[in-house]
Amino acid sequence: MKKLFVEETVNKIGQEVELYGWVDSKRDHKKIIFIDLRDRTGIVQVVGGEAFKDISQEDVVYIKGIVKKRPEKLVNPKIKTGTIEIEAKEVKILNKTKPLPLPVNTDGYEIDEEVRLKYRYLDLRRPRMYKNLALRSKFIDLIRQYLFKQGFLEIETPILSETTPEGARDFIVPSRLQPGKFYALPQSPQQYKQLLMVAGIERYFQIARCFRDEDPRADRAYGEFTQLDLEMSFVNREDVMKLIEEMIIDVYKKLNIPIKQIPFPVFTYKEALEKFGADKFDLRTEEEKKQNIQAFAWVIDFPFFEKTPEGGWTFTHNPFSAPKPEFMDDLLNKRNIENILTTQYDLVCNGYEVGGGSIRNHRPEALKAVFEIMGLSEEEINKKFGHMIEALGYGAPPHGGIAPGIDRLLTCITDEKNLREVIAMPMTSGGKTAIMNAPSEVDEKKLKELGIKIR
Ligand code: ASP
Repeated sequence: MKKLFVEETVNKIGQEVELYGWVDSKRDHKKIIFIDLRDRTGIVQVVGGEAFKDISQEDVVYIKGIVKKRPEKLVNPKIKTGTIEIEAKEVKILNKTKPLPLPVNTDGYEIDEEVRLKYRYLDLRRPRMYKNLALRSKFIDLIRQYLFKQGFLEIETPILSETTPEGARDFIVPSRLQPGKFYALPQSPQQYKQLLMVAGIERYFQIARCFRDEDPRADRAYGEFTQLDLEMSFVNREDVMKLIEEMIIDVYKKLNIPIKQIPFPVFTYKEALEKFGADKFDLRTEEEKKQNIQAFAWVIDFPFFEKTPEGGWTFTHNPFSAPKPEFMDDLLNKRNIENILTTQYDLVCNGYEVGGGSIRNHRPEALKAVFEIMGLSEEEINKKFGHMIEALGYGAPPHGGIAPGIDRLLTCITDEKNLREVIAMPMTSGGKTAIMNAPSEVDEKKLKELGIKIR
C-alpha cells in the first residue's frame, strides 16, 4: 500500500521516500528533467535525468528519491510542497497513458459539458473537482456526527418502491415476476420515514437518493439527487427548525464557512412575497456575495392548497403535512380551504430553496381529508394511500421532519454555478448518464421476459 501522500513530503527533508502518482507536467532541460508528480493531495517537483526521458504527462509512476530543501530563491510559494523537491533515485512507469481527450490541469469550466461527463473519470482528476468531492465527504461526515450525537438512527429505505408524490413524474421499473406491473423509484422516502415513526424509531435520518423525472433545468440535477432525509417524533414545527438550524451552524463552523445571520431570520410566505416577490431570495449584499457568505432564512405559513388548472385543489408542498393547529377543524370539515395554512417550513440559502419539511398529519382522518379536498375518491385514496391511513390508525405518534438538499447546499458553499460540479457522476442536462450510455435500448429477449413491447 502507498504509505506517503505528496503533501506529506514537506516534513521529510533528508529522508528517502517512495511516491506514487500521476505526472502532472514535465519540463525537459536535456541534462536534467523536472516532473511535477501529482496525487490527490497536491503536486511535488521531482528532479531526474535520463531515466525520465520516456515519461509523459499523465503517466502513472513510482518514484523513489531523497527529499531536498530548495534554495531560498527557488522556493515556489504557490504549491504546498514549494519549499522542497525530490531528487529521484529510481523511477518506474506503472502505466503509460494515451493522449488525453481533455486537459485535466485547468479548472475545466472552459470544456464542453458533454465531453467532461463522457470522460468524468479524467475530469475528476482536476484538483478543483477533488476538492469538491473531499468537501462533500467531510460535510456528510459532520452531519452524521451531529445527528448521531442527538440520538438519531441512520436507516435505509427501499429504492424499488411505490410512488410517493412530490410533484414530479416517477421513474418506473418493470417487474419480471409480475408482468405488466411496475415499481416506481422514490421521489423521496417520505412515506417510509413516516412509517418508521409509527414503528417507534423516534429519530431517523438517511443520506437519501431521490429520483424525480422533471423537465431538465440548468440549475437542477436531472434524474436523481441526494438529500438529508430526517424525521422525528413528538416534536413541533419549531423543534425541527431548531434542530436543523443548530446542525447547520455546527457543521459550517467546523468547516469555517461564514453564516450571515444567526439565528436564521424567519419570514412568513406573505412577508416573503411582499418583501422579495418570491419565496426564495438572496439576503446577501454584493460584498457578502464576493466573500461567499451563506445567508440562511426560513419561510413558514404557506397556504396548504392551491387551485389546479381544472378548478380543483392540490397541495402546495406535501400532502402528508398537517395544517397549522388553528386550521385543523377547517381541514377536517373541508371548509375555508383557500385560507388553510400548512406547517411547512422551507429553508432558503443564497437565493435557493435548500430544503423543506413539515409536521405531518398523524391522525388518519386528517390525512384522508387532504386527499378528499384534492378530489380523490374513497377508492383512489384506499388504493394509493390505504397503507398510510391504516398505519396512522395504529397509534402513530405526532411527528415531523425535513429534507435539506445536499447537492444544493454544497453548490452554495463552493459557490459553483452548477449542481453537477459537486456530484461525482451526474447526468448531462439532457438526461444521459456520465460515462455510461444510459438510457439505452434493451434487447428483445429481455423485453420479452418483462412482457414489454416497444410501440
Ligand atoms: N419529502 C419532502 C421532500 O422530499 C421533505 C419532507 O417534507 O421531509 O421534499
